[in-house]
Amino acid sequence: MRIDVLTLFPEMFQGPLNTSILGRARDAGVVEIHLWNIRDFAHGRHRQVDDYPFGGGAGMVMKPEPVFNAVRHVLGGEAAPVILMSPQGEVFSHQLAEELSQEKRLVLVCGHYEGVDERIREALTTRQISIGDYVLTGGELPAMVVIDAVVRFLPGALGDGEAVHSDSFAQGLLEYPQYTRPREFEGMEVPEVLVSGNHQLIARWRREQALRRTLLRRPELLDRLELSEADLQLLAAIREELKQTDSSSD
Ligand code: SAM
Repeated sequence: MRIDVLTLFPEMFQGPLNTSILGRARDAGVVEIHLWNIRDFAHGRHRQVDDYPFGGGAGMVMKPEPVFNAVRHVLGGEAAPVILMSPQGEVFSHQLAEELSQEKRLVLVCGHYEGVDERIREALTTRQISIGDYVLTGGELPAMVVIDAVVRFLPGALGDGEAVHSDSFAQGLLEYPQYTRPREFEGMEVPEVLVSGNHQLIARWRREQALRRTLLRRPELLDRLELSEADLQLLAAIREELKQTDSSSD
């Protein structure tokens, strides 16, 4: 996969894109990431990239010409999704990351200041992505979030290729609790079942824990799932247990 990032602050990407799993994935050729400075595509002595908003108001707006020039140069006539990072876009998710990981190429456009000229949204970008209902100073951190989540899905990016499919959200549930050595830490023991060596029991315990966590923390996720008969029985038992705990604490 190739990802092109258009930004006014390419230096912000250096740490995250060159470290740990992303750094290794780039070194191994799993993903090619190119950073482009939008200012290099601005004309004039001052290479101006922003200007005052028509109609007045606070802050500066990113001008259309440098962004259009940059995208056209980067694509060179090729077609690829051109994604604007925007708090007004569709909210990023595990499913969207997986969908984007199927693309051969992505172009990510980072806004800054008060945002971008509306014509960039209307006529240049094909999609807008928000990483959540809050406003950041720029699209650079959102672009890094998208890149990280997408690259995890690329074959060869993670040491254990299976991990991505058992993570939280992969099967619509939050992940079960994880433990590592030592078996006892400051009086807290690892659940007995995990050291039992019984893989069937471990799988059942994990499923039960994933359902329990999801029910307690993100119950709305359960509404979107088709649960098996075994899951429904586990959930009924968990709900019953929670009811008992509630009534005994009243
Ligand atoms: N005035 C804009 C609005 O109210 O929609 C917000 C502009 S924000 C200060 C500047 C840039 O940061 C945006 O153009 C976008 O690229 C990026 N940005 C901010 N919050 C974001 C979010 N939650 N998700 C994705 N991008 C975001």
